[in-house]
Amino acid sequence: MRAVVFEEFGDRSVLRVQDRPDLSPGPGEALVLVGASGVNYMDVYQRTGTYQVPLPATLGSEGAGTVLQLGDGVRGLAPGDRVAWTAVPGSHAEQALVPAERLVPVPDGITTEQAAAVLLQGLTAHYLTHDSFAVRPGSTVLVHAAAGGMGQLLTRIATHLGGRVIATASTPEKRDLAEAAGAVRAVPYDAAADTVDELTGGAGADAVYDGVGADTFDTSLRVLRPRGTLVLFGAASGKVPPFDPLRLMAGSYFLTRPTLGHFIATRRELLERAETLFGWVAESVVDATITGRYPLDEVVSAYETLESRRSTGKLLIIP
Ligand code: NDP
Repeated sequence: MRAVVFEEFGDRSVLRVQDRPDLSPGPGEALVLVGASGVNYMDVYQRTGTYQVPLPATLGSEGAGTVLQLGDGVRGLAPGDRVAWTAVPGSHAEQALVPAERLVPVPDGITTEQAAAVLLQGLTAHYLTHDSFAVRPGSTVLVHAAAGGMGQLLTRIATHLGGRVIATASTPEKRDLAEAAGAVRAVPYDAAADTVDELTGGAGADAVYDGVGADTFDTSLRVLRPRGTLVLFGAASGKVPPFDPLRLMAGSYFLTRPTLGHFIATRRELLERAETLFGWVAESVVDATITGRYPLDEVVSAYETLESRRSTGKLLIIP
């Protein structure tokens, strides 16, 4: 079977499509024929070594497909079932081995591509809007990079929960997408502070969802209301430099730097969030906007599109 492998950390040139021995499921595992696999910033952090993973590694942290074979002890699944998973490495491949307890059944009415497109980012948007900062009717939140994969989902879900989203994005086309996803106003990054000021009558935002990191962190702190929450959930522009906690005293702010794994740690939590998420897809609360499909051989091109800020919505690898 073919897979996207990297043997050292580095830029996109370290990625190779290799023929690997066929996989066989061990106890508690399922062998899955991968139908589609999501392209995520998490994969960039793993490839570059920002997040250290054992090498050699197969790229890809999210996928959906069909169960081929089950290892000993797996209950409740059968060959032919459609499933999706995230936070398990190795999905940019024709086949993947996944612990059965990390598999989510894909309901009828949701396509395999839709499942691969929404699972990682949708589960993330779910916990960010329910647990990191609970969006309620009337909450005002600033969402950075709101035309991106995470950004559009966050904007749609926060709006669905009754929140008012102010968005940032780099180009007019991206800002149109953010407004189409529900933002009341989408502006360039350097207009964020004035816009929050204007739309909140000087009060400040209840929360900021910041997946951009280094370039936006200072603005994100500046636009919060007293006791507001900065949810720093990524670093698309680079890591935020070391930070003096005394800066939080300016508004008794809350700062959190969450990661998905802690919010789907139990099977129950994984299934509950996934059920809500797939319900939102079925009801078109969120739409899995797939803007690019790439075969394994074009994996470098997929990541070039993501990393050069040319992508909007979701990119998929179709093995
Ligand atoms: P996106 O589709 O959002 O792509 C990143 C976007 O960030 C770009 O399109 C760009 O939008 C913006 N950006 C701003 N500055 C830069 C820069 N210097 N270089 C590149 N992009 C920049 O990616 P994802 O939806 O996959 O991920 C968004 C963030 O969410 C990432 O930081 C990722 O790590 C994080 N994440 C965190 C998770 C968690 O649990 N903590 C889980 C999943 C994702 P624009 O052109 O409008 O500026």
